[in-house]
Amino acid sequence: MGKRIVIALGGNALGNNLPEQMLAVKQTAKAIAGLIEDGNQVILSHGNGPQVGMIQKAMAELTRSDAERYIPCPLSVCVAMSQGYIGYDLQNALREELLDRGIQKGVATVLTQVEVDPADPAFQHPTKPIGAFMTREEAEKLVAERDYQVIEDAGRGYRRVVASPKPRSIVEIQSIRDMVEAGLVVVACGGGGIPVFRTEGHHLKGAAAVIDKDFASCVLAQQLEADTLIILTAVEKAAVNFGRPNQKWLDRLTPEEAEVYISEGHFAPGSMLPKVQAAVEFAQSAPGRSALITLLEKARDGVAGKTGTVIAM
Ligand code: ADP
Ligand code: MG
Repeated sequence: MGKRIVIALGGNALGNNLPEQMLAVKQTAKAIAGLIEDGNQVILSHGNGPQVGMIQKAMAELTRSDAERYIPCPLSVCVAMSQGYIGYDLQNALREELLDRGIQKGVATVLTQVEVDPADPAFQHPTKPIGAFMTREEAEKLVAERDYQVIEDAGRGYRRVVASPKPRSIVEIQSIRDMVEAGLVVVACGGGGIPVFRTEGHHLKGAAAVIDKDFASCVLAQQLEADTLIILTAVEKAAVNFGRPNQKWLDRLTPEEAEVYISEGHFAPGSMLPKVQAAVEFAQSAPGRSALITLLEKARDGVAGKTGTVIAM
């Protein structure tokens, strides 16, 4: 019996630059095509950290040398560009892989806007690092010239940080649902979605933020009434005491058990924590729903119950 599955792809599914992405999506397409071959309805979402950073830097470079014509490119526009670029590569890789397996199925990317709350406290405390690492001098220059906020990231250098508000609802949800119902494989909510505020009338205004793709995927899975949310990342399972001698991989957790581990600080903020939080929220959202965290290459085994960390009631 096929399930409706929302799959959130992590950074390792896409690589860090153009040639890496071109190669990575081929492996990603194989993993996803396997699940489609098994009869599941698949909806894909993905991260965009390196890509949105690259686009944002390129847009800034483009106008830097010509101060008179300098037009800042809003971060929301950079996210939209990243959805287009990543969707293009994913869509093509999946199209090719499905056709190679004799599966006739349309694959389409939806430029997706996600509503955020202007009063979200995240706007007062930017936490999301984007783009390349910089030296202290480069970072200080951007702070002075462009009013950016930067952080020192775990001894690896400086990075720009932006707000990461919680996703509230998906503007294009009905279009996505219609496409899924029509049998298409849909790529949506890329990079957590283009963050927008609802303003007067029907106008949507882009926000200078990056939404966490794990949280956006959780909202997508809930709004599509999916059976399963799968978060594919660089580890086969989540662990307690991660990286310590007493590390223990987790196989199956109830949302309540996961909450205890969260409160004990076992999952790193910005990496594993949002995944476990998204998994808990989805598993609690309706009876019968489950979430799975595993490696990209293990997606099929994970759905078959052979590996990964499952969070379910
Ligand atoms: P993605 O691009 O898939 O979102 P992230 O790097 O954000 O990937 O998050 C996955 C990473 O989280 C893993 O590669 C691992 O290094 C780290 N991590 C932090 N805490 C844990 C934990 N408790 N168990 C497993 N992995 C963890
Ligand atoms: Mg991440």
